[in-house]
Amino acid sequence: MITIAADLGGTKIKLGVVIDGKIAQQTSLAAESGDGLLRQLPQIAYEIQRLLSSLGLEHRHCNALGLTFPGLVEPKANRVRATYGKWDDAPGIDLGAWANKQFGLPLVMENDTRLALLGEWRAGAGAGCNNLVLVTLGTGLGTATVIEGNLLEGVHGQAGVLGGHFSTNRQGARCTCGNIGCAEAEASTSVLARIAAKHPDFGTSAIRLCSNIDYSAVFELARQGDSCALALKRHGVAVWAQMIVNLIHAYDPERIILGGGIMAGAGDFFDDLKAAILSHAHTPWGQVDIVAGTLGSSAALLGLDALARQRFPELA
Ligand SMILES: [Zn+2]
Repeated sequence: MITIAADLGGTKIKLGVVIDGKIAQQTSLAAESGDGLLRQLPQIAYEIQRLLSSLGLEHRHCNALGLTFPGLVEPKANRVRATYGKWDDAPGIDLGAWANKQFGLPLVMENDTRLALLGEWRAGAGAGCNNLVLVTLGTGLGTATVIEGNLLEGVHGQAGVLGGHFSTNRQGARCTCGNIGCAEAEASTSVLARIAAKHPDFGTSAIRLCSNIDYSAVFELARQGDSCALALKRHGVAVWAQMIVNLIHAYDPERIILGGGIMAGAGDFFDDLKAAILSHAHTPWGQVDIVAGTLGSSAALLGLDALARQRFPELA
């Protein structure tokens, strides 16, 4: 089975060709999610074509095209139901028709974090465990859940994936989802520059000199003792811990898998985060296992291939 997989992330679009369950080739391009998906689809099609050519393949050799989306997806209808500040035109686009017209292939679609979890569950840090929560810390905060061997979807497709929109601050900012003080609106890369600028020490902090304020820069400056960076790091860890404790209380996982761009640039926050989660989670049965994902940016691509196999078993 050959699946063309496209993972639409907040800052990067990752593309891969998965042959018999292994990534044969992958590439990435910058995401211009503020300009709309319709504008970026021709570039995605062009890069997929280049990727196939590099393997000596044509799209007629492939079996399915898979797309992840950083929002709510109606998987069976192949439609985006809701967006959160990225590719906001997507709900109006018939992506199934695009896949068919561009490549003559059937489309499978799902929420990006749900597919990263499917990938880690099948072949990564979740292998052998049937009660899992995956959390991606990055431009946004993504979550997904497996309970007793079932990837949680819910009647409207939103079960398990809205952990980033658990409210963590009643006095917080309004989130892109309409709620107040969501974890994603309190501590994610998309809001970091705004939060940094509000800190009383920002005027004297080296953060203001960064051309791109992200958590890697914050962690590095925190190591150097920058007071604003230290406060931002502490705030991030507190918000993420609060969100993950809520996920533990909601879904009773045995294992939490952490991934995403902030984890990739890891720094030394992982131990602090783990300690904060374990000291606040109510788990009288014992301790949740908290681990880093092992598949990195490949997780969602492999998850797309697994989804295509489930959806089209006759091709697998
Ligand atoms: Zn929200």
